[in-house]
Formats: sequence, structure tokens, C-alpha cells
Amino acid sequence: MIKYCPTCPRSSEDVAFIGEFCEVCTSERIRSGMPTSFKIPRCKVCGKIKAIDEFVDFTYKNIEMHIQREIHNRNCKIAIKSLDSKGNAVVAFDYPVGNRGESVSFEIGVRFRFPLQTCIKCSRRNSGYYQAIVQLRGSEEMTGRMADKISRFLERRDSFVSKSERVKNGIDLYVEDKLVMNSFFDIYKNIRPKRSYTLAGMRNGKRLYRNTYLIDLSDGMSG
Ligand SMILES: [Zn+2]
Ligand SMILES: [Zn+2]
Repeated sequence: MIKYCPTCPRSSEDVAFIGEFCEVCTSERIRSGMPTSFKIPRCKVCGKIKAIDEFVDFTYKNIEMHIQREIHNRNCKIAIKSLDSKGNAVVAFDYPVGNRGESVSFEIGVRFRFPLQTCIKCSRRNSGYYQAIVQLRGSEEMTGRMADKISRFLERRDSFVSKSERVKNGIDLYVEDKLVMNSFFDIYKNIRPKRSYTLAGMRNGKRLYRNTYLIDLSDGMSG
């Protein structure tokens, strides 16, 4: 039986139909309902974008995931075809419609704006924020080597040493994230710090503790 589209002169002899409408009209309806501008905050220090609730790397994949969320359709396939320095982009959509697994594909011009902010990591970096202190004790060489090791470990996990201070018998490291620091000790089990905790303050009625880890390297433990 030949179908006739209610909104255009096409029939099922001309084009495929999705439900009672032709695929051209279906595609046009979805395409015209798409937002054509997106605002994604970008950190002015590290350049990461707040695409998925948190700051993540500026990649097409992350921006595509952001669009998926904005249009409330996680099954829609999205591909950025081009994006220039002014934020003008061409984005391809493969949008699922109907109940037989059909989809319509189209490309639209999209404008991205990236208002500048400072992400939490960068503002912590700037302010010297820390949750833990690692006290390395031993020779200058041993403590220096361990400080480098810890610092590299943290940077790889998006954390960092806020401040590094040479003291009498070694180095004090002020570490941004105590959970990342704990994971260091979980991995390098031969490094056994003496742990202590000091009350740093209260937040929302909960006590906030600052962790201190004392690592004695004077017996030649190298990690
Ligand atoms: Zn039609
Ligand atoms: Zn940042």
C-alpha cells in the first residue's frame, strides 16, 4: 500500500517512511528542533572544559558527550566534523527515531561558546591548597628522589604538590588530594608512612582532617 506524507507531496514510492511521515520531513522536524548554540565553560589556566559536570580535556569526544546530554538523547550518535577557533562547528547527528531502529542523519552548523572560568584544580594550585603533608626524612638525595617520584605520581592522576619545603632533615610536601596520596601508598606497599591526623576545621558539620605522612628514608628504603 502506498503511503502519502501528511506534510509534503512525497509518497512511499519516492522515499522511505518512518511511521506515517516521510523520512525527509521526519529529518527536517528533528533537525529544526536541535539547539544550534552551546555554552561550555573553559578553564583559563589549564584549558579543560566543563563538559560532563566536571572539567575534562578539551576533546571532540567530550564535547560530543556534552551535546548528547544537552539534547537528552544518549543514543544519538554525534560527530564534530569541524570546529574553528571562533567556535563555529559543523556537527553530524545520527538520531534514532521510530520503533524499528530507524534513524535520520543530518549535519548542522553549531556555535560553541567557551566562557572562561578557573577549574577547581587550578584555583587550588593558585591558592596553595592542600589536604595532606608528606614529611620526607633522610639524605638530600633520597628525599629529593622520593619527592620527584611522588610529584610525578600525583601529576599523572590530576593532582599535584602545592608547596615543597626544604626543612632540616628533609622535605615537606604539601599535597592537594589526600585520596590520591593514599593510592600512592596502596601501590608502593614497601613505603610505610607513619600516619597522623590533625583537625583542620569543620565543613557542613563534619570534621575535616588533614593527613600527615612521615616517611623515614634514612635506612636506605628507596621505594
Ligand atoms: Zn514528507
Ligand atoms: Zn584548570
